[in-house]
Amino acid sequence: MGAKSFDVAVIGVGGMGSAACFHLARAGLKVLGLEQFGIPNTRGSSHGATRILRLGLHESTKYVPLVQRAVELWDELGELGGDRLFHRIGSLDVSVPEGAIFTGSLRACQAYDIPHEVLSATELSKRYPALTPDEDMIGVFQPGSGFVLPEASITTHTNLALAQGAEIHGMEQLLSWRKKTGHFTLRTDRGDYEAGQIVFTTGAWIGKLLDLPVEAERTVLGWFAPFCDFANFSEENLPVWIVDSEETGHFYGFPTHGIPGFKLGRLRETPSPSVDPGKPRVEPNQEDEADMRQFVSRYFPSANGPILSMVSCFFENTPDRSPIIDGVPGVEGAWVLGGFSGHGFKYATVTGEIAKDLVTKGSSTQNLAPFKASRFVIKASS
Ligand SMILES: Cc1cc2nc3c(=O)[nH]c(=O)nc-3n(C[C@H](O)[C@H](O)[C@H](O)COP(=O)(O)OP(=O)(O)OC[C@H]3O[C@@H](n4cnc5c(N)ncnc54)[C@H](O)[C@@H]3O)c2cc1C
Repeated sequence: MGAKSFDVAVIGVGGMGSAACFHLARAGLKVLGLEQFGIPNTRGSSHGATRILRLGLHESTKYVPLVQRAVELWDELGELGGDRLFHRIGSLDVSVPEGAIFTGSLRACQAYDIPHEVLSATELSKRYPALTPDEDMIGVFQPGSGFVLPEASITTHTNLALAQGAEIHGMEQLLSWRKKTGHFTLRTDRGDYEAGQIVFTTGAWIGKLLDLPVEAERTVLGWFAPFCDFANFSEENLPVWIVDSEETGHFYGFPTHGIPGFKLGRLRETPSPSVDPGKPRVEPNQEDEADMRQFVSRYFPSANGPILSMVSCFFENTPDRSPIIDGVPGVEGAWVLGGFSGHGFKYATVTGEIAKDLVTKGSSTQNLAPFKASRFVIKASS
């Protein structure tokens, strides 16, 4: 018997791949999804209960149309799955007035008419008593932003894709792939398949698999026990936040949700040395805790209680920290959607839709020009 044949194979069923499987299956295609671990898993970039979704993105206005469409799809996904996946609790971007976090966020809000308020340090600490900003800090509050739920959305996308007839295999690793006339052949650790097109959503593993400049950076999330004023850390009293401090660094975090405690993580301006995502991970340790604690003790002092949990995770960084959404260089019918560089989960829904449009039409209504692989020097692969 020959290898089983599909219209499209999606490699990596994480944040982006599960969305791609759903949108492709909903469009009527015969879909194979392959995931090397479980679905969802804690080995890649999409675990830890919550991810920030900001509408006015400080990184660049080029992401605003993407996130606007993503939000429509997050709301739709919540309705289809029966559980809210986007929690609109607002967001804060806090830095000194000339800092990139404040200026970038304000610029994006003004350019796209996104509702926002500018808050002084005094207003910030009055409104959000958990936070003690420096006197010279200033913040942008965006009421329409909030957080999405990574594991729950992977579950929902995957279940909806299965209901639409997609065939999805967990615990099955793609080992090699090859373009033949008119189709692809795929070899995994469990069997062989054929597919008309192939979509790579392999997150931190993309660099190695496709010879693209995507590097895995180890990063750690921590959950601290507030020792007093617990209510100040609830969704009603604290939005998602980014605080960029010259002294302690750039940190981001959440009110309590899903996992006990006050959650935060660090974003480094210069990424830590890249790691091989295929090798055993360095587990979170006391050094990671101390790094987070120096920030907590200064800016959220009442959360400076015992550590409750820590997890490590991969950022999937490109050299310019912007994703690659494009055809695989030199291979017609193969697509890559990855390298979201630590800020991609908010786009998972729209990334799935883009994957469907690329596979079915070869193009997307989203402007993908900034995300081309050709902006980097790369070798063709197959
Ligand atoms: C700590 C942390 C905090 C973050 N915070 C935010 C945030 O607040 N807001 C935001 O928008 N984004 C955030 N991000 C970024 C966001 O989570 C990622 O951009 C996103 O999860 C990437 O999704 P992905 O589908 O590309 O990768 P993943 O979800 O990791 O999926 C890739 C999958 O491919 C599988 N795979 C790889 N190779 C193979 C193979 N050969 N065969 C089969 N399967 C394979 C992997 O096992 C994995 O499951 C954060 C990331 C981290 C790590």
